[in-house]
Amino acid sequence: MRLCKDCNKGNLEKIGDIILDIEGYIFVVNGLRCTHCKEEFPSPSETDKVIAAARKLGVWPEPLKLYRHLSKSGGGLIFRIPSDLEKQLKLNENIEIAISKVGNKIVIEPER
Ligand SMILES: [Zn+2]
Repeated sequence: MRLCKDCNKGNLEKIGDIILDIEGYIFVVNGLRCTHCKEEFPSPSETDKVIAAARKLGVWPEPLKLYRHLSKSGGGLIFRIPSDLEKQLKLNENIEIAISKVGNKIVIEPER
């Protein structure tokens, strides 16, 4: 078993049910999921296939919508930023974020 590089607590187990939603097209891919933080890592070859398929359908595969569960800690709920977004947006623990509610959506904006 491989240790999760995100939380260093869980193991990565092979799963076949990661759901990628690209502009309403649902793709189910193989990958790894952490047993602790539930972070999902779609396998790179599968992700490439999905991107190729999405381009054929004429949809741009960004943003990739990943489904994940909130986790409970203390009295609150914890939302983990997917690591690909963390890298793309160059986020770190020192960046302040603004959280706003727009209808039934939550918008998280990094403040610079
Ligand atoms: Zn983890």
